[in-house]
Amino acid sequence: MRFASLGSGSRGNATVVEAADQCVLIDCGFTIKETERRLALLGLAPLELSAILVTHEHSDHLKGVAPFARKHNLPVYMTPGTYHARDIGKLPQLELIENYQAFQLGELHITPVPVPHDAREPAQFILEAAGRRLGVLTDLGNISAHVENHFQACDALLLEANHDSMMLAMGPYPLSLKDRVGGPWGHLNNQQALRFLQQQDLSRLEQLVIAHISEQNNALEKVQEVFKPLAGEVSNIHYASQEEGFGWLEVPQPRA
Ligand SMILES: [Zn+2]
Ligand SMILES: [Zn+2]
Repeated sequence: MRFASLGSGSRGNATVVEAADQCVLIDCGFTIKETERRLALLGLAPLELSAILVTHEHSDHLKGVAPFARKHNLPVYMTPGTYHARDIGKLPQLELIENYQAFQLGELHITPVPVPHDAREPAQFILEAAGRRLGVLTDLGNISAHVENHFQACDALLLEANHDSMMLAMGPYPLSLKDRVGGPWGHLNNQQALRFLQQQDLSRLEQLVIAHISEQNNALEKVQEVFKPLAGEVSNIHYASQEEGFGWLEVPQPRA
């Protein structure tokens, strides 16, 4: 199994996961052209994709989903709440999924997990194939007990560290938006993400990607400083960017 990102942040998100016979796109917050361009940088053609999974209806995740799915005739998986939250546009094939109800795409086993976020019925995902386990966890305002339980023992984890609380407080956002982003239904700050990791058993975690990093309310140097203490426990820590996401990362076989 391997995964990569086309871009990560409030101006657009898309992650690709390739495992066995599947290559799925999680979210598509870019235009068709931009998505195709970024896929090409990863050496992927749209026809190699097998499906699109959608986490929630915010436009940084959803904007490109329907146009891209129509152009490339891809099935789209999402919860009923996400589907009904707004007019998504015509889809070539809609597959409704339920949180906690795992489903199978070829040899890829996918579990949608609900998260506390200000969307109608958001889902983040755990993807498993051949004994390897990847967690994709962004866009949540706090770590719920359910999230903590489900995202254990991942071999690879893409985790949001959206903002630095002080930068958000001092930054240019209007008060209502500061409250939203920093609130329990908004986004994880650096310290919340760190605490979550410190409470996890990280013995299997080989690839950690810090993602959905705010360009306004966070800084790469700050994030790197925050997660540095984990360097002894996690062999590979990466930082996803808005412009480039991150290149292919292999999810290793679990140690016996
Ligand atoms: Zn987002
Ligand atoms: Zn969101």
